[in-house]
Amino acid sequence: MNRKTWISLLLAAVFLCSLFPASAEEIPAEDTWFCLLCGSETGGDACPFCGVIREAWDCASCGTRNLSDACRSCGLGRTDSLRQRAFSPEPLRAYPALRFLAKQGDPEAMCALADYYTRGLLAPQDPEQAVALCTQACDEGYAPASLQLGKMYDAGTGVEKDPFRAMEYFQRAADLGIPEAYWYLGSYYEEGIAVSRDYQKAREMFTKGGESGDPDCWMSLAYSYASGKGMERDFATALTWYEKAAEGGSAMACDYLGWLYMTGDMVPADTEKGLEYYRKAAALGNARSMMALGYAYLKGQGVEADPSAALSWYEQAAIAGRTDALHFIAELKNN
Ligand SMILES: [Zn+2]
Ligand SMILES: [Zn+2]
Repeated sequence: MNRKTWISLLLAAVFLCSLFPASAEEIPAEDTWFCLLCGSETGGDACPFCGVIREAWDCASCGTRNLSDACRSCGLGRTDSLRQRAFSPEPLRAYPALRFLAKQGDPEAMCALADYYTRGLLAPQDPEQAVALCTQACDEGYAPASLQLGKMYDAGTGVEKDPFRAMEYFQRAADLGIPEAYWYLGSYYEEGIAVSRDYQKAREMFTKGGESGDPDCWMSLAYSYASGKGMERDFATALTWYEKAAEGGSAMACDYLGWLYMTGDMVPADTEKGLEYYRKAAALGNARSMMALGYAYLKGQGVEADPSAALSWYEQAAIAGRTDALHFIAELKNN
């Protein structure tokens, strides 16, 4: 699909959504259904907006339009196809499938759809609806919904900020085996939010989270040792936890270690090691490390100066969201 078609589809979808707002008051009646092509809530045998017949679905794998439970061209099942679409990174593809699956009671789809309502993406912004969807998914025992609700109450997205409720949801998510929830519990103990400040307990939470697979927990544990929270600063121990976080795939830890070795701050300077960490962080999507690599190639820091390599890193940083890279790109292109 070209860019222009994409934009006109997006505009059409936004327009349709503004005509047919999905609000909490409009809980779908039994005889309404979600069009699988445009995501509109509608009645009758065919969608009045895009003309597609009720229950018709486009195969996520081969594009064939079908009515029966399996694709007549490639055999992909309807639910599998819908799930593939629902979790596609392209909102226009995902949204209709998400509405459909959420109405069917799929908790993962409910949580993903909640994010659309929170952000007002393709649907009017409706934080209450977002909370309702997550709560329903949570009540059905879907663990990630607990974490999502915890974050909503933590940040006050769509609900009144409520650290006590957030803490309850984080605890529930942790009990249900969501490693990231320990990071929030640890941070609450560290900051003394909703509980009395307790650095020891915070470190326990970070350790549990790290052990269950959240590398950012090792990062926070490292920071706790590096800054000496509730104890003497211990940079040697901090460094081992930073390394553990980096090994576990924390882009932030890789970026930070890169910076430490490049600058020789608290460790002996080692540009080779620094660049290696920056590359690892960049591969994990860390835009700051991409900027740093651009700069290293621009200035010949630990590598031979190489303007085209610098340009390539700045371009990657810009794509990853660093608008400050645009200035370097323009300069490099002018020289
Ligand atoms: Zn439609
Ligand atoms: Zn197919």
